[in-house]
Amino acid sequence: MAIPKDARITLSPEEIPKKWYNIAADLPNLKPMIHPVTKEPVKPADFEAIFCKPIIEQELSKERYIDIPEEVRDNLMALNRPSPLQRAYRLEKYLKTPAKIFFKREDMSPLGSHKGNTALAQAYYNAESGIHTLTTETGAGQWGTALAMVSNLFDIKATVFMVKGSYDAKPLRKTIIHTYGAEIYSSPSQHTEFGKKILREHPDTSGSLGIAISEACEMAAKDPGTCYALGSVMNHVMLHQTVIGEEVLKQFAQAEIEPDYMIACVGGGSNFAGFTFPFLREKMHGKFQNSEVIAVEPKAAPSLTTGEYRYDYGDTAGMTPLMYMYTLGSNFIPSAIHAGGLRYHGMSPLVSAAFDQHKITAVSYDQPATFDAGILFARTEGIIPAPESCHALKCAIDKALECKAKNEAKTIVFNLSGHGLLDLAGYEQALDGTLPSSAVGDHY
Ligand SMILES: *Cc1c(COP(=O)(O)O)cnc(C)c1O
Repeated sequence: MAIPKDARITLSPEEIPKKWYNIAADLPNLKPMIHPVTKEPVKPADFEAIFCKPIIEQELSKERYIDIPEEVRDNLMALNRPSPLQRAYRLEKYLKTPAKIFFKREDMSPLGSHKGNTALAQAYYNAESGIHTLTTETGAGQWGTALAMVSNLFDIKATVFMVKGSYDAKPLRKTIIHTYGAEIYSSPSQHTEFGKKILREHPDTSGSLGIAISEACEMAAKDPGTCYALGSVMNHVMLHQTVIGEEVLKQFAQAEIEPDYMIACVGGGSNFAGFTFPFLREKMHGKFQNSEVIAVEPKAAPSLTTGEYRYDYGDTAGMTPLMYMYTLGSNFIPSAIHAGGLRYHGMSPLVSAAFDQHKITAVSYDQPATFDAGILFARTEGIIPAPESCHALKCAIDKALECKAKNEAKTIVFNLSGHGLLDLAGYEQALDGTLPSSAVGDHY
């Protein structure tokens, strides 16, 4: 089949956005974060032990637009921005659907996911503020990889605490992070008081994201030259990711695309926020009125579709501020699905507010169906999606099949948040027929 020339909508490097969009300016009734000890709304000074000043300002900002520093824009090019918007002609043909399917290619970053967009901004502001080391946690490993890579761009060090279960299961992540020159420790570790305490009490634990967050924060709080970096959930992370959605709007204008569906997966919410918040701004101002914006989550951690909207902690130990969000409870442990980036008990407060205010909808899918979608995408479009991205893809395919049944030529756009070349164990199980259906997780 001949692929038409308009299959890829590209932008030039000058079209990398000049401003991030802060949806906090446009969502009414946002509730402040609450200090875990005083139970008062957090003040900027409360964050100073672990975040640098520009990041704290962005976290609490209500400004609609924030300038992207020139140096960050230059370096976004090193992450292959702007990324193409591509049409999935071969998938459409296979499905025999009259729908058009487009996808935004965050898989084209050398890091393999969208996470570099915020890692870059965070490393820049910390380096500018005189910070010499960033600490962080990583579950599946994408975020630790992103921070390790960008730390070289700004001459800063990175220390990554990787959840022990993943550290043991994914040795290649350690190799990548070492290749970028960063430190990586299996968490719980002997490098922090909290890690040592957990190891004394539970020597056989496989760790958790909550424990790794506590270790990374402890190390940052102890040294004034060290700060902490987070890969999702918080407002400043959503902000930095909006380069994705601003590019998408330019690509829609260039190719005269009017989407009916905008779809992305949600773990902490950052690739979804980045992809859809600029679009939601336009929608709130009267454009794209007939479109639906859909967040897709795993059955194993369905915070939007089954969680409660209330204050909850970001970590398991209850050390972070309380955030008003959809949550399954901070003691919730999702079952061990391959889409590690979607295994989180809560949801970004901004994405949560958009959902509560009916600006977006949400669905959830079970693991085997998402991998089947990924295998189909590999065989039609040639790209092996990340297990997380397979959730958005599965929803896009379902919408395309609905269009086929109703003979409607709708336009479906989804965010391909990353590639799955480091997640092949899941594909192997899917091909063998041994991939388990995902039980909803458990509480402690
Ligand atoms: C981390 C990750 C996600 C989930 O995180 P969000 O903050 O919800 O975007 C999704 N896709 C990929 C490829 C990831 O690495």
